[in-house]
Amino acid sequence: MDTISSRISQVSPSLTLAVTAQAKAMIAQGEEVYALAGGEPEVDTPNFIKEAAIEALQAGRTKYTPAGGIPELRKALSEKFKTDNNLDYDPSQICVTSGAKMACYNAILAVVEEGDEVIIPTPYWVSYPEMVRLAGGIPVLVETKESTGWKITPDQFEEAMTPATKMIIINSPGNPTGAVYTEEELLALGNIALEEDIMILSDEIYEKLVYGEAKHVSIASLSEELYNLTITVNGFSKCYSMTGWRLGYTAAAKPVADAINKIQNHTVSNANSFSQYGAVAALEGDQSFIEDLRGEYDVKRQFMLGRLQAISNIRVIEPKGAFYFFVYTGEMGIKSVNLCDKLLSRYKVAAVPGVAFGYDEGIRLSYCTTLDILNEGLDRFEQFCREH
Ligand code: PMP
Repeated sequence: MDTISSRISQVSPSLTLAVTAQAKAMIAQGEEVYALAGGEPEVDTPNFIKEAAIEALQAGRTKYTPAGGIPELRKALSEKFKTDNNLDYDPSQICVTSGAKMACYNAILAVVEEGDEVIIPTPYWVSYPEMVRLAGGIPVLVETKESTGWKITPDQFEEAMTPATKMIIINSPGNPTGAVYTEEELLALGNIALEEDIMILSDEIYEKLVYGEAKHVSIASLSEELYNLTITVNGFSKCYSMTGWRLGYTAAAKPVADAINKIQNHTVSNANSFSQYGAVAALEGDQSFIEDLRGEYDVKRQFMLGRLQAISNIRVIEPKGAFYFFVYTGEMGIKSVNLCDKLLSRYKVAAVPGVAFGYDEGIRLSYCTTLDILNEGLDRFEQFCREH
């Protein structure tokens, strides 16, 4: 008898976490590493958020909370959805959980049956296909193109659809490409989903990090029918710089929300209690932190765009959101894992191989780091490209 279940055996480890771990190990050995592989803001969580969590700890808010989250947080999130996203979610439709990762997994587990197909635009965020597999579903990967801004088109969606399609995952702003779908694009995809009653998982974790003319739109806000088909996922990790606090949430129509609550009841019980008090403060406090962060990232994004566009044997398009560039490296003819290995071991630059996102002819570079590291890292990356 096999020790490991077939469900887990077919799942791959997270390559993004692996690269970060390798870079950290090199740093621990005293090596200088220019980390352009990160997936989290380099700045600390704002103090007012920390203070609220410390207060909660000191006040003894250290016990189990309701499975879906403390009432104060669900209420604050319900208000956030109304103000930021034009969405009416009652607090009972919101489930707070341990990170947006768990929120995505809860959403998938709540609706995907054995053998159901889930359409995932590629390059995708690393965990979606594995989560679908864990739920017994079949990931259907649809390769997007640079020419369509790394976004799935309505034609591609229709072509990928079969009677077994249960869900499509839309991640806007997107990791690893920084793609941001416009309202028209979301509506066109949403109308196709509506025709066949396909559920939509809308991962909006980078919502506040959009640049230039780009605007974040929640697909669930576009019509009542889309509201009913959509599970909206969001979290505190990226925009509030709270990755270690492990806080994310889902919002959905009541039957799906109830199903998600059941999963939550029997798995994690609830998200960390004092983190949740910090999150209430994050939502209710001064939001200028986010605008400052966005402004700084916009500067780094434009700087990096100029640097990358000047390198002749790679291609990039302007990312409109998040804090990543997905760089096409196909002309070098090196597999993305080999490329990133060489880049890290010989040039001391950490990047994430595109194969982690289902696309081997590219790599992900992030700009959630200091300008100095970015600058030196890009000098070295440029040298790498010149020599390959
Ligand atoms: N969705 C996307 C698109 C992400 O990039 C990430 C984090 N890398 C997550 C979800 C998970 O976020 P969290 O750390 O809150 O679990």
